[in-house]
Amino acid sequence: MKLLFNARIYTQDPARPLASAILIDRERILAAGEKDELLRMSDGRLEQEDLRGRTIWPGLTDAHLHFKSYSLNLEKIDCETNTLDECLQRISQRVGKAIPGEWILGHGWNQNDWNIPPPHRRSPDGEGPGVGSGVGWPTASDLDRIAPNHPVYLTAKSLHAAWVNSAALRLGGVGAGTPDPQNGRLQRDASGGPTGVLLEYAMNLVADKIPAPHPDRIAEAMEKAQPVLWRMGLTGLHDFDRRDSFVALQALHAQGKLKLRVTKNIPVESLEHAAEIGLRTGFGDDRLRIGSVKAFMDGALGPQTAAMIQPYIGDPDNRGILNMDAEQLFEHGRRAADAGLGMTVHAIGDRANHEVLNAYEQLRGYEKQQGLPHLRHRIEHVQVLHPDDTARLAQLNVVASMQPIHATSDMLAADRFWGERSVLAYAWRTQLNHGAKLAFGSDAPVESPNPFLGLHAAHTRRRADGSPGPEGWYPEQKLTLAEALEAYSLGPAYAAYAENRLGRLAPGYLADLIVLEQDPFACDPDDLLKMESAATLIGGEWVLKSI
Ligand SMILES: [Zn+2]
Repeated sequence: MKLLFNARIYTQDPARPLASAILIDRERILAAGEKDELLRMSDGRLEQEDLRGRTIWPGLTDAHLHFKSYSLNLEKIDCETNTLDECLQRISQRVGKAIPGEWILGHGWNQNDWNIPPPHRRSPDGEGPGVGSGVGWPTASDLDRIAPNHPVYLTAKSLHAAWVNSAALRLGGVGAGTPDPQNGRLQRDASGGPTGVLLEYAMNLVADKIPAPHPDRIAEAMEKAQPVLWRMGLTGLHDFDRRDSFVALQALHAQGKLKLRVTKNIPVESLEHAAEIGLRTGFGDDRLRIGSVKAFMDGALGPQTAAMIQPYIGDPDNRGILNMDAEQLFEHGRRAADAGLGMTVHAIGDRANHEVLNAYEQLRGYEKQQGLPHLRHRIEHVQVLHPDDTARLAQLNVVASMQPIHATSDMLAADRFWGERSVLAYAWRTQLNHGAKLAFGSDAPVESPNPFLGLHAAHTRRRADGSPGPEGWYPEQKLTLAEALEAYSLGPAYAAYAENRLGRLAPGYLADLIVLEQDPFACDPDDLLKMESAATLIGGEWVLKSI
């Protein structure tokens, strides 16, 4: 048994919210309370540890993370730079070290940060400076100058666009005569040729040519990523990557090396197979279990592909891309519900969210009519809602899976492209007030998975640099730190049907906790930005310890 004492322990257990000691028996918590009382409960073989006044929180969970991409991305070129030139310099350095013909991979650029002047790539007459024209975006020729012989594939920070060079376009067979694929778009120059930016499903034209890393490689990258996440305070995640990620996670688990609690979502394309073999939500164990079926309703704000009821400001013909309507989504949901699988659907724009809610309303009726279990369906992102839809998640008991850091990262783009609609953008306070369950995450590698950055954003609605000002962006949407903490712990546990064993430091719960040098509840909110776990315990085992 382990006894941690002389700590400030926030348990999230309503029966005992604060404690100074915690007693752990193998992988579970026996009790939280005061040292003397716990000593009486312990057996002879007791490991005692004085935490010298440090703070203990329940381990945090990221409810939306792409674990394979995140892990592999740790090895890619970081394209999140202030200028285009800076990004090109980094690429050029990598090209210098690459073997001939090797793919050059990078991630994280955002053309909105770069202010690229338009002179040499003016759009054809009549076309506005919209997403299709490529004005203000980087091009293949920018890359050709530094990488004429290596194919280059760089994903945007949003992951909804890719910037490639001519060598990559050639390998993908993409030229002036290539039509836009379904749910995708090639940016084109005045003569109709590809500029080098591929949007949404058009990304696959080139991405499909990149040799896939072997699952063993992915597992290795994941193993290296785990300590990075423990240090950030994460003890669990909900994974939104696909088959390769699942295979790698199982390999890690089989070797006893998976030291995070992972809820694995499965892509809607695999729904039939999953149903056929009888896979259900909840199958697995406390380390790795099946979550829900993931579908995509639309794109994202950055590339202006999120499906909107009204057009984007400054681009009157663009209402984004809607992948399917409510009826089609309901058909997937019905099939999933019949098989005992929940749904989790990506929806950013107000139109996309509206369609998902319509589908879920129909699905709730179906579940009831068929006597099926009431599953914990979710919406991923819930980025902007129409005023008529704000109460519907709570009414339908749909989990609002949101990413606080998106609000502060995207606030300028939201103001610019959505204008006044932003009053209901990233509106977690509105969701909480209506009674919806919040599950917070990062969508890493879209953003850093550091939950303390998310806690800061949820609590202050400010960026790390203090912008847009002390009050924050739409400050009425701020959460208290306690509410935000719950959305990073009990919320994801609820979404994973695990609230009876995860998210609290209470008797019978799994012993997942983090040790902090400072008490987040007692310090300046901006101190959250520098916080990290000094020690992380998962299932009663110290996976990280620097105290
Ligand atoms: Zn995602």
